[in-house]
Amino acid sequence: MVCNGLEAVVTLGAGPAGLSFSSHYDHKTDIYEKEASWGGRCRSHMIDGFIFDEGPHSSFTKDAYVKKLLAESIGGRFNEIYPKILNRYSPCWLRHPLQTNLKGLPVDLVVECILDFVKVERAGSGSPKNYGQWLIDGFGEKFARTFPYAYTRKYWTVEPEQMTTEWIEQRIYRPNLGEVLKGALSEELCNMHYISSVRYPEAGGFQSFLSSLQEGAKVNYGFEMAEIDVKKKRITFKNGFKRYYHALVSSIPLPKLVCCIRDCPTEIEEAASQLDCTSVILVNLGVKRENLANCHWFYIYNENILPCRVHFPSEYSVNNAPPGFTSIQAEVYYSRYRSLGMSQENVLEKTIEDLITIGVIDKDDKITLVDSKDIKHAQVLYHRRHAESRRTVLDYLENLNIYCIGRYGEWAYLWSDQSILSGKRLAERLAKNSPK
Ligand SMILES: Cc1cc2nc3c(=O)[nH]c(=O)nc-3n(C[C@H](O)[C@H](O)[C@H](O)COP(=O)(O)OP(=O)(O)OC[C@H]3O[C@@H](n4cnc5c(N)ncnc54)[C@H](O)[C@@H]3O)c2cc1C
Repeated sequence: MVCNGLEAVVTLGAGPAGLSFSSHYDHKTDIYEKEASWGGRCRSHMIDGFIFDEGPHSSFTKDAYVKKLLAESIGGRFNEIYPKILNRYSPCWLRHPLQTNLKGLPVDLVVECILDFVKVERAGSGSPKNYGQWLIDGFGEKFARTFPYAYTRKYWTVEPEQMTTEWIEQRIYRPNLGEVLKGALSEELCNMHYISSVRYPEAGGFQSFLSSLQEGAKVNYGFEMAEIDVKKKRITFKNGFKRYYHALVSSIPLPKLVCCIRDCPTEIEEAASQLDCTSVILVNLGVKRENLANCHWFYIYNENILPCRVHFPSEYSVNNAPPGFTSIQAEVYYSRYRSLGMSQENVLEKTIEDLITIGVIDKDDKITLVDSKDIKHAQVLYHRRHAESRRTVLDYLENLNIYCIGRYGEWAYLWSDQSILSGKRLAERLAKNSPK
């Protein structure tokens, strides 16, 4: 079947960015979504009475417009949470962020971290060439190599020297000597984390925050885009359906979009092949025990322990788990740079073993729900050729009236609020340029 529409603005993907574009464009667009439901990476899944998001999600947006929009979606019924965050460096449990909460670590390690911190503070920060250098300049060699280096291998799947620094923004706190010393000597929590409070819907999981964007959207489900003929301005979907467009708005992963372009120039294919991301296996567990969690989430630095981060969704909303149960979501990252060397099934088993080893689950606990999900597109990787390759591809596409929005469309480390704003910005831009 062919659908004409040479004046049409067609949208790919019904995640936060695609839905936001549609909503801010008065829903004058048809959305084509490959899955059977909306929400994208912000979907929430009901599994045996538990609700799990597609990766741990909560809203920490500072943007007043997005805050209002999310709150209105659920009639103001959200939990405002002041998260308790911990760090695991076996056998210690430590407060967060580690750089200002060293108390509890072995004394020799604390001393080495402080001595190295003093050295870099005296030297002053230059202009670091990569993330590894940024870490050493900001924290000192010992701390950097023991903690964030190890975490980078687990979360980003690469060595810190392979990454640039453009994604950091305010995500990582760089303390002064006074703060480091205070956190090493005192029990008082020195909380410098960039998130001080988060919001989470009372019911329905994180996805509910997007309801108002979805209302009125014309979403066609089960339509996976397979080919774009940029000369004819025609898209073909896997199910054989063809659709003409005037402008194409894409929130699907950028490298995938490029792969679908018929007769794509070699230099664009080459640039797209440089765009990397990590993948994640989410391990979701339901445990028959109340008050199992002693925090909202924690980070794990030991490299022999598989997950890098563990969340307790039942701490965000009581509706995320049946009464008397605790839910757990662990993240295990991999990529072309880091193979896990085991099947998804083995990742699940090893994660449960690891959670028992570090004392989160008791070996006598009854684990009633065991589930895992493999997410191919997780975090966009910022390596040396990221910025240039991304710009080359986006400029080429815009010349063809193909506009990319959102985390995977723009291929940038965007949170859901930034993805929503990305869709909104494009809607305003296209509306301004369209004939009255
Ligand atoms: C592990 C993890 C944790 C996160 N935690 C948070 C958090 O706590 N707070 C926060 O604000 N943000 C968080 N984020 C970020 C948030 O998930 C993203 O910013 C947001 O989902 C991006 O929205 P999007 O619409 O750009 O992309 P997506 O959500 O990926 O939407 C794209 C849509 O396109 C569809 N699609 C893909 N290919 C095709 C195709 N070929 N044809 C048709 N449709 C297609 C997909 O099915 C999807 O529905 C997290 C992300 C991850 C991975």
